[in-house]
Amino acid sequence: MKKYAVPLIMLIVFETVAVVLWQTKDNLFYLFNFSYIGISIAAGVFLFIRKYKYARRIVQLLVGLYMLLYLGLIRGENMQIEGFWYYLFTGVFEAATIHYAVAKIFGPLIFGRGWCGYACWTAMVLDFLPYKVPQQPRRKLGWIRYITFSLSFVFVTALFLTRIGNIERIMFWAFLIGNLLYYAVGILLAFAFKDNRAFCKYICPITVFLKPMSYFSLFRVTCDKDKCISCGKCRKVCPMQVDMTDNSRKRENGTECILCMECVRKCPKDAL
Ligand code: SF4
Ligand code: SF4
Ligand code: SF4
Repeated sequence: MKKYAVPLIMLIVFETVAVVLWQTKDNLFYLFNFSYIGISIAAGVFLFIRKYKYARRIVQLLVGLYMLLYLGLIRGENMQIEGFWYYLFTGVFEAATIHYAVAKIFGPLIFGRGWCGYACWTAMVLDFLPYKVPQQPRRKLGWIRYITFSLSFVFVTALFLTRIGNIERIMFWAFLIGNLLYYAVGILLAFAFKDNRAFCKYICPITVFLKPMSYFSLFRVTCDKDKCISCGKCRKVCPMQVDMTDNSRKRENGTECILCMECVRKCPKDAL
């Protein structure tokens, strides 16, 4: 039973958030929302432990489609970074602010960039592309993320400063157009750099939160040096070019790990 501790802990964390928010906000939606996400993630981790090949992709589709189609398009919540700024400025601790706090700001202290591996609706599409493992060395383009991060902030600030009307409607269209742009740029970059996750590595503004917080992540892939035979198979399958054989927190691309567990699956010595 010990091996099922991780999905159980994840389920407990999400259920705790679900119940606390349901009670404090007196809104049943939070119970449904965080229970659904928690059950999806815990089920995926459970399937992974049972060695089911598509465990991660199932969770990614369950959570990603739910957030994109139900929360974004049907309920009209802008769950992108612009939505986060928007709700932050209005002082409303709802939808996008809670989502960011749990999945992208404080959650990564526990589960690192699990969001990127198991829930993101942008990566959900990018992961279908042919370059699951990068075919080229990493480029020094990470600075672009600070530009996209700043642009999103300036965009929402400008909406408030100009006191433009119908801002809710604008945020809905921003969500639609923003997502289409992300998909277009993400797919183009994946083919140009022969790397499905190029968008995540260089463009995504959310990594400005995710990277520093996941540095301290409780859950992380570590290597048992006594078992490792330095065959290098793990590094060959990593979509994020992490050196998972180095146990230090400063390891190469350490804050890029999306906990996809491809390295763990490929290790012939169960060293990871
Ligand atoms: S880096 Fe950004 S686009 Fe990539 S998976 Fe994470 S949140 Fe999604
Ligand atoms: S292959 Fe391993 S180190 Fe690379 S992202 Fe996946 S879990 Fe992290
Ligand atoms: S695949 Fe396993 S044994 Fe090979 S280098 Fe990686 S951790 Fe070591």
